[in-house]
Amino acid sequence: MSQELLDAIFDGAKHLYPRETLLMLRGKKVKDTIRIVDLVIPPLATYGHGFANYQLHLLPMDFSLIGTVHSHPSGNKTPSDVDFNHFFGRILMIVGYPYAGVQDVVVYNSCGEKLPIEVTKE
Ligand SMILES: [Zn+2]
Repeated sequence: MSQELLDAIFDGAKHLYPRETLLMLRGKKVKDTIRIVDLVIPPLATYGHGFANYQLHLLPMDFSLIGTVHSHPSGNKTPSDVDFNHFFGRILMIVGYPYAGVQDVVVYNSCGEKLPIEVTKE
């Protein structure tokens, strides 16, 4: 993903702090790499504490949506059981407070395995 996209995620997370932000990730899978190219504000999103009040099953079918990103205002980037129960798409990205850099980002696949993150200049 690009630095610009990461900054956009951080900006949103900071703006909503101490509430959680939740965005959809648009992208594509090329070989073993998932490239995130865009952010999508989900319909019917209710920003608040907890991921559970978000209705993922109401989303339109869109195969370019490859996952979600949400913030953990506590700074603890460990995904909760709820996060995995609401897994959508291929990847689950979590950004933790203070939303400063790539060290505040974790990405998991649907098997619960942590994936490496590459941030590019453009
Ligand atoms: Zn979470």
